[in-house]
Amino acid sequence: MKVVYLDNNATTRVADEVFEAMRPYLTERYGNPSSMHAFGGEVAHAVERARDHAAALLNCSPDEILFTSCGTESDNTAIHSTLEAYPDKRHVIATRVEHPAVRVTCRYFQSRGYRLTELPVDGKGRLNLDQIRNALSDDTAIVSVMHANNETGVIFPIDEIAQIVKAHGAILHCDAVQSVGKIPLDLSKTPIDLLAVSGHKLHAPKGVGILYVRRGTRLPAFIKGGHQEHGKRGGTENVPYIVGLGEACRLAAEHIEEETTRVRGLRDRLARGLLSSCLDASLNGDLDDLLPNTVNVSFEYVEGEAILLHLDAHGICASSGSACTSGSLEPSHVLRAMGVPFTRAHGSIRFSLSRYTTDEEVDAVLEVMPPIIERLRALSPFGRKPERAEA
Ligand code: PLP
Repeated sequence: MKVVYLDNNATTRVADEVFEAMRPYLTERYGNPSSMHAFGGEVAHAVERARDHAAALLNCSPDEILFTSCGTESDNTAIHSTLEAYPDKRHVIATRVEHPAVRVTCRYFQSRGYRLTELPVDGKGRLNLDQIRNALSDDTAIVSVMHANNETGVIFPIDEIAQIVKAHGAILHCDAVQSVGKIPLDLSKTPIDLLAVSGHKLHAPKGVGILYVRRGTRLPAFIKGGHQEHGKRGGTENVPYIVGLGEACRLAAEHIEEETTRVRGLRDRLARGLLSSCLDASLNGDLDDLLPNTVNVSFEYVEGEAILLHLDAHGICASSGSACTSGSLEPSHVLRAMGVPFTRAHGSIRFSLSRYTTDEEVDAVLEVMPPIIERLRALSPFGRKPERAEA
């Protein structure tokens, strides 16, 4: 069965060009970039070329790019190292919809005595910027706000947020794991101090990431050890993966236009098709505020997991907005923060596209979804919507 892969916010396929760029560094070019000999020096050059590509995508300087093992490490480093750099400041601000890489880290510091403000979002997943202004205090060390939400695709106005935070003087960390390569971001214009990127969300392999560190930002090493990465992260560089990420950044810069036109067009067709063909379907977020590749739709009175299983039987990969924890299905913290009612949050499905998504794949989803929803609604324990049950 052909796989229809619409789960690109979970992970993406490695681009062929990325794999080819990596191959020599997994085989014949295995030198250590720290070595004094030319064999290692050639490898060090490859790492620097990758840094150049990453810097070009973000429009920053190569020496502001720090390679890490993943988005989670980048987020952890940003928060841990900032709090270490400013030991007198005991306040952290984040949003209620951050990825666990940020959320759990902030809550860890809360459990260690820090004050944590988690900013709410409205029903469309939007932040109220006045609430950021009001939350900032002289004690605030770091504000951590994602650029785009992984579950809903809702984009936060990071330029305005950066202006507010920097006018106040706190450090701004942005988890841009879902947005980089999908929507433009110009770090020469947006005064973000720290920013997390993950390779496997932009067609590089899993297990490599970036922490952008604006020049002059205090950042004691989180992973202590050797002098690698300008002494900011110990550990021998994961050269093949760094080279792959560099190539993925180069490709992302080339394809970003396509994301905002062709991919968005496919996503819009999918979203509108689902809303018009499936009963009691609603969008989580506003199409205009979303990443061009993401749509999260709730099918009321149906369980998301059941939808996923039926889609899976057709070879279609997507994600649901609830996670099975301790035997009970908990709606996601993101949908809960948006105030999505229980009966809708449970039946929410995220479709996330990529530059490899085709028209035929969108057609396949639009064909199978209405009968799946109809069948499940008839079977579901909360499928007996009162007015329909009587009809
Ligand atoms: N932040 C966001 C918004 C994400 O979506 C993810 C992964 O899903 C991460 C951070 C973590 O990235 P990684 O899987 O590279 O650790």
